[in-house]
Amino acid sequence: QAKERGRNRYQYYSEEINIRLMAQLDLEARLRSPLLTQSLVLQYQPIYNMQTETISGYEALVRWHQPDGSLMLPGDFIPVAEEIGVIQDIDKWVMITACSELAMRMQDHQRPLRLSLNVSPKQLRLPDYADFVAQQLQLNQLPANLLELEITERVIMQNDDQTLANIRALGELGVRLSIDDFGTGYSSLSYLQKFPFKTLKIDRSFVDNVCHNEPTQRVVDTIISMARSLNMQVVAEGIETEEQYLYLKSHGCDLAQGFYLSRPIHGVDIPAQLTA
Ligand code: C2E
Ligand code: MG
Ligand code: MG
Ligand code: MG
Repeated sequence: QAKERGRNRYQYYSEEINIRLMAQLDLEARLRSPLLTQSLVLQYQPIYNMQTETISGYEALVRWHQPDGSLMLPGDFIPVAEEIGVIQDIDKWVMITACSELAMRMQDHQRPLRLSLNVSPKQLRLPDYADFVAQQLQLNQLPANLLELEITERVIMQNDDQTLANIRALGELGVRLSIDDFGTGYSSLSYLQKFPFKTLKIDRSFVDNVCHNEPTQRVVDTIISMARSLNMQVVAEGIETEEQYLYLKSHGCDLAQGFYLSRPIHGVDIPAQLTA
């Protein structure tokens, strides 16, 4: 009897593992498909200038249409895409699509808008990456300083020569470089003065706690004043409440992003948001 139960349990587990494995293989196969980019879409989340309370630009965020009609968020496929080496194709598509979208929106909007893109570590290892970026800017007649590339601390930590060469080349092009999710990576801060970063994005985990947790407040205050002294702009990401917004504004943060201000929206809705 015990043996019988044991076998049932084994069958149950192996079936469950099987289903998960099949789903994983299916996901990988669909990520490898040459038609992948046809089912990708971009949404854009505004970044607000806290002093003027106007939109300074948008961050493009990729989503993936699923066969069942749902929209998959990047957290569920970007890590897999990085692992199997198709992230470069995704990020190139994002760059091409977002640059042309921005160029189009700028035509009917007087004020310049900044476009922020997330760049995966693998993208920065491509020898032709800086050339590709330069080409996209030229193709869309976009000034380099309107493009901002967000990279995470783990990119710098890997200390890869090609990556460092790309970072330097992008800086020379006049493209802005931003550190995303600042404070979550374990690294020395010395890179902040070595590389031409223009923007620092305080990770959402700090913003979450900033109103009721004194140690977090001290960390956030320190990050802001450090950025100040390095001549960097500071963005607070993931602001969900007015209280968080007001704290950060009164403590010298420059820019703000989060559901409190706006969720990511479709490109076609940008003009209406800009004139609202
Ligand atoms: P991220 O660059 O730090 O982007 C911010 C994420 O926080 C976005 O999630 C955004 O929708 C979400 N968010 C913004 N405001 C709030 C808020 O107030 N509350 C909460 N709870 N969340 C907020 P999303 O779009 O799911 O993207 C997740 C991550 O996926 C991004 O984090 C970025 O690292 C990566 N990612 C997105 N698009 C791309 C892409 O085109 N290429 C690459 N390589 N990575 C991307
Ligand atoms: Mg980002
Ligand atoms: Mg971030
Ligand atoms: Mg984040």
